Amino acid sequence: MSLNGKVALVTGSTSGIGLGIARALAAAGADIVLNGFGDAAEIERLRSELAAQHGVKVTYNGADISKPAEIAAMVAEAAKAHGSVDILVNNAGIQFTANVEDFPDDRWDQIIAINLSGVFHGIKAAVPGMKAKGWGRIINVASAHGLVASPQKAAYVAAKHGVLGLTKVTAIELANSGITVTAICPGWVLTPLVEKQLHARMERDGKTLEQVTHELVSEKQPMVKFTTPEQVGGLALFLCSDAASTITGVPLSIDGGWTAQ
Ligand code: NAD
Repeated sequence: MSLNGKVALVTGSTSGIGLGIARALAAAGADIVLNGFGDAAEIERLRSELAAQHGVKVTYNGADISKPAEIAAMVAEAAKAHGSVDILVNNAGIQFTANVEDFPDDRWDQIIAINLSGVFHGIKAAVPGMKAKGWGRIINVASAHGLVASPQKAAYVAAKHGVLGLTKVTAIELANSGITVTAICPGWVLTPLVEKQLHARMERDGKTLEQVTHELVSEKQPMVKFTTPEQVGGLALFLCSDAASTITGVPLSIDGGWTAQ
């Protein structure tokens, strides 16, 4: 499948799942706009590697997804530099865990701003250009936590459930515009976001990395193994294909059986 001539903006693509998705779309020929935080030299290395490996144009924009004006400016700059934004992957996200009565207000606000409001502002900025071209793909990286809950994750679960609601509304509004809107709902994927949770458990329980990894994955997923960023990239690529052109407004789980229970 070829995405030659298409431009994909992937938020939070300097790491983990977003990078896996950017790699999959670049490998199919899409030009890429990378976004996310990190070491400037490492990001430049990633950018030039991706461009050279796949012969596509890759740019980087460091917009903070908690800031609506920076998102709008990033989409406008991407359209100017690349001609359009045809595929928007709203992937940037953070996690924080605490019981609801102890959950810090500023952490709640930050998670809602990045994991939920950032998705809204990205969609709002990208839709006019997609409508003008009569084609678009909006892929929101939600989570198994968009469908079911876990304790200590009030803000994250609320945000991810919100992303699914936003996905449905937007899909209906755009149903006859050539634009599909979907949500990918991964289970456990071994990325820095999950590594932090593993290290917190090691400290809390005095156990080895191997022990806490087995516990973390097996308590939620019948399939006791991680999904990889490459596999999530493969699903995102499928959602950009013609075969997926009537898949809209739905969550697609890639979760080792987590939400089958
Ligand atoms: P990660 O920490 O590896 O990557 C997160 C990315 O988002 C990084 O590039 C980071 O720089 C970027 N980011 C964070 N805050 C940002 C901000 N304010 N502005 C711009 N970029 C910002 O995490 P990941 O696991 O790859 O997570 C990616 C997405 O996948 C998130 O939305 C997460 O909720 C979701 N997810 C992850 C898992 C998992 O098991 N890892 C499971 C389900 C869903």
